[in-house]
Amino acid sequence: MPKYLMGEVQLCTTNCVLKELESLGKELYGAKIILQRFQIRNCSHFKNPVPASQCLESMLDAGNPHHYFIASQDHELSTAVKKIPGVPLLYIILNTIVLDKPSPRSVTHVQAVQSGEFVTPAQQQNISKLKEEQGIAPDGAKRVICT
Ligand SMILES: [Zn+2]
Repeated sequence: MPKYLMGEVQLCTTNCVLKELESLGKELYGAKIILQRFQIRNCSHFKNPVPASQCLESMLDAGNPHHYFIASQDHELSTAVKKIPGVPLLYIILNTIVLDKPSPRSVTHVQAVQSGEFVTPAQQQNISKLKEEQGIAPDGAKRVICT
């Protein structure tokens, strides 16, 4: 995986994923052993585990602040991930790991950022402050200057 992604990789999972694997029985015992070696990230379902796909999706809340990649063969999860801009998706086809091309949602998001459509609240505040300092009226407001 580090070779494929050309960088340091931290493999991680959640307790919900491990619990689901446990519930699926002996056939997935090997997968469970491998996953147990991964770093276990805290999810918000400590007391009541949820399905793995639901848990992983919840880890991407608030714009994927931890910059997770998702590796999954689950169609439902993949579809959900593609709706969140900036979440790379990995899956396996014929024993080969594939990094999916950026989703249309990610591409649109990047284009919007590049064209300056997205301004964070902090940036907006700075712009307003600068406008005020320069004596430029906020959008839509009229300013009367008496000399
Ligand atoms: Zn969870």
